[in-house]
Amino acid sequence: MADGSEAPAQLEQVRVFLNTWSVPNDTRVPCDALPELVREPAAWRRTLPGVVGPPPTDDTAVIGALSSLRDDLRAALGQPRPPGLDARLQRLRWRARLGGPGGPVALVGEPETTETSLLAMVLAAVTAGTWHRLRACPDCGWVFYDSSRNARRTWCSMDAGPGARGCGSIAKTRAYRSRQRARHPG
Ligand SMILES: [Zn+2]
Repeated sequence: MADGSEAPAQLEQVRVFLNTWSVPNDTRVPCDALPELVREPAAWRRTLPGVVGPPPTDDTAVIGALSSLRDDLRAALGQPRPPGLDARLQRLRWRARLGGPGGPVALVGEPETTETSLLAMVLAAVTAGTWHRLRACPDCGWVFYDSSRNARRTWCSMDAGPGARGCGSIAKTRAYRSRQRARHPG
C-alpha cells in the first residue's frame, strides 16, 4: 500500500500488523482483520510475510492474545523508549545476538512466535531510533510512519492515500469552516 506512510525495513511489518485493526473510509465502522488472518495461513503469509504466524485456528483465546499484543504495541506508539512493553519482554526467554541483520543488538526469542518476532522488530526499531516515528492517527487510529524531518506529523494522511482516510484534510476543512463561522456568526 503506497500511501507515503510505510515504515523502513522490518518496522513496516509491525505497522501492517497494527493496522489489522482499522476504521475504513467508507463504513467508518471499526474492522478487525486478525480473526481471518489467524484462520488463513496463506492470507497471513501474504499480509505479514516477515512475521511468524500462529498455528491456524478459530480459538478465541489465540486471537484474544494477539489482539492484546496489538493493543500493547499501539499503546507504546510514539515513545522513543516504551516502558509499557517491559512486562512482555520479561516473560520471554531471549538471547542477545551482536551484529545481526536486525541491528547492532538483536534479541531472539525461543521459541519464535508471533509475539517474539514482532517484539524483536520493535526492539530493533527502538535501538535504531525509529520506533517513536510510528504513530496512530488521533482520529481514525490508522498507524503511519512519520518520515517528516521534525517528526511532527499528526494525522494519518493529508492527501488521503489508499487505506488512509485523510483526517488531516478533514481537520483542515473543519478548522476552516469554524473560522468562517467565527467570522460570520449567525
Ligand atoms: Zn486518520
